[in-house]
Amino acid sequence: MSRQRLTVVLSQAQGKNPARRALEESIAAALLMEPGLDVSIVPYLYDLGPEHTGRLFLESIQGDMVVLAWMYPRAAFWLLDRDGIKGHYGENQITPPAETDEHEEDGEPEPPKGIGSVDVPQRWIYCLDLRDHNNYAIYVQEVRRIAAECRERREARRKTAVPGEPPMVQLGRYPREDGPATGEATPSARPQFTAEQLLQQPARRWYPVIDYSRCTNCMECLDFCLFGVYGVDKLDRIFVENQDNCKRGCPACSRVCPEHAIMFPDYKTPAIAGAPVGNIGGLKIDLSKLFGGDDALKIAAQERDRELVADGRQAVGMTVGIPKRQADKPKGPKDDLDKLMDALDALDI
Ligand code: SF4
Ligand code: SF4
Repeated sequence: MSRQRLTVVLSQAQGKNPARRALEESIAAALLMEPGLDVSIVPYLYDLGPEHTGRLFLESIQGDMVVLAWMYPRAAFWLLDRDGIKGHYGENQITPPAETDEHEEDGEPEPPKGIGSVDVPQRWIYCLDLRDHNNYAIYVQEVRRIAAECRERREARRKTAVPGEPPMVQLGRYPREDGPATGEATPSARPQFTAEQLLQQPARRWYPVIDYSRCTNCMECLDFCLFGVYGVDKLDRIFVENQDNCKRGCPACSRVCPEHAIMFPDYKTPAIAGAPVGNIGGLKIDLSKLFGGDDALKIAAQERDRELVADGRQAVGMTVGIPKRQADKPKGPKDDLDKLMDALDALDI
């Protein structure tokens, strides 16, 4: 059997919420007792800048990895991908509390139609949302299950490996911030960091994260944002080029994206923060409603204007970078969300 160890990274919550710290500590203490795991703790994932030791540590990990963080798994996974910490999406089996009842998704899930990531090494990254449960044992059990799954996968690969093929870790590629998706390999030596270095608290950040399993590279976000956040990489793919140019608290471009591929992990509306799309409470829902519905573009333009004016620039309203597609869209038949809203309206509360 393969003896490669599984790396588990626990990303702390922002602030000093005692309940959150207690959960983090219980999970870390239990995982440290598990065989075959390398456990590390870093600050809040979203806040790690390119030079932060926690980020350099994450970049140095070359095998399968589990990341426990206080955000939706989809947001955590694509946030890491943007920073060159790439892998295949590992499905975790922790069910959020709201989905443990009788709700079952009807029909087949939509097949991904986005452009996907590039230069993805043969390793898997599993992201678990620490907001799902406050019982540490649920996370420990899931990490054990993932460790067994990774071992089996490695073993199966080992049996079918072509002689002379490089081992999995040598296939990993980790492009840095200034060179996304170019596929240039970096040396595989893994630097050592102290816990103190890893846990230096970074300043809070705010920027969009693109889900490339949904993004079709239409460039509407690039046209809409007037703050130079988006750019195009060497492969002519959209990417979040200047993360810190984004305006704190503003989620405007997520409303403009026709594929709902843009996430802001700290935003209050779950769909914008990276909630699983297409499976919300078991209801078949027109996702655009969760991003502002028929008024999404108007709301986005207002949010953008607010930031332009705060910067001392002219508001542009609906005159710049607004896609035409939704302007004259006829109202469709009511869907489950409409019916739910109607039912709530009918309740005299
Ligand atoms: S608007 Fe959405 S789908 Fe289009 S390029 Fe931007 S992220 Fe991708
Ligand atoms: S939220 Fe606003 S500032 Fe940030 S990327 Fe989107 S449009 Fe640009």
